[in-house]
Amino acid sequence: MKPNRSRAAAVFPVGRPPSALTSQAGSDKALSMDFTLVDRAVDLLLRASHAVVLTGAGISTESGVPDFRSPGGIWERYDPSLFFYARFLAEPDVVWKTILELNSSGEFSLWDAKPNQGHLALAAFEELGLIKAVITQNIDNLHQKAGNHNVIEFHGNMLIAKCMKCSRKYSYEQIMGLVLNSQVLPPLCECGGILKPDAVFFGEAIPQLALKESFRHAEDCDLMLVIGTSAQVEPAASLPLIAKGMYSPLRGMGNFTFPKLNCQVIEINREPTPLTDEVSDFLIQGSAGEILSCIAQRVTEKSA
Ligand SMILES: [Zn+2]
Repeated sequence: MKPNRSRAAAVFPVGRPPSALTSQAGSDKALSMDFTLVDRAVDLLLRASHAVVLTGAGISTESGVPDFRSPGGIWERYDPSLFFYARFLAEPDVVWKTILELNSSGEFSLWDAKPNQGHLALAAFEELGLIKAVITQNIDNLHQKAGNHNVIEFHGNMLIAKCMKCSRKYSYEQIMGLVLNSQVLPPLCECGGILKPDAVFFGEAIPQLALKESFRHAEDCDLMLVIGTSAQVEPAASLPLIAKGMYSPLRGMGNFTFPKLNCQVIEINREPTPLTDEVSDFLIQGSAGEILSCIAQRVTEKSA
């Protein structure tokens, strides 16, 4: 893609002082950002020929989207079985009714959430031609809302629905229009097929194309940013290992791996994760939004 420095510069104007340098959100202690590590990340990002990004819930909590698995999360108030694929097949009307209740309750900002400065920074990286793809475990559509085009979604997208018969996709606005007009649940496609939220439900397979593309990026990359995730759940768990040549879906785990010495894995997270000591080259600890914003600002300055 042709870099478009002007728009990125508009988002992160040169000369603007770094935004908040500390964060207390989600933690009692203020986290100071390590600017030496930020500068290392900037240099690596500018030098990389194939950089990819892996994101998890931690980048979206700053947009008010709750981590589904965290204590006090969504599953303590709603029956998780509603999001089992078999349950959807059996009772699509009941599942849709719950989703619409969640949507209108206002307590769960998935549909109305806005991208934060972390998402916007990643969109600027793509626009500058610095990253090839964002691979995400999130279903909140925030990377696309921020402006990223090459987004690989492991768990689909809750803001889109897909016809189970003809695969036609419907936007969130179209679904709401259908529901309001017909007052019928589940909403139906023009072809008569049932519409299903395009998020991957429990018991439903990860999209094969997403798997294949993400493995290819992990094999080919010379820089991977792992943001807001401990990457402990497959298939995301494999990606940093593949990036470092510690595992290959083709060669298998064991004696026959070929370490990719030229590949760096940078973690951006509030807390250390199991990757931190074993796999990552370094961790920049703190708010993903603040750290990415700072990296984007410095990258923009150096690219100007
Ligand atoms: Zn259809």
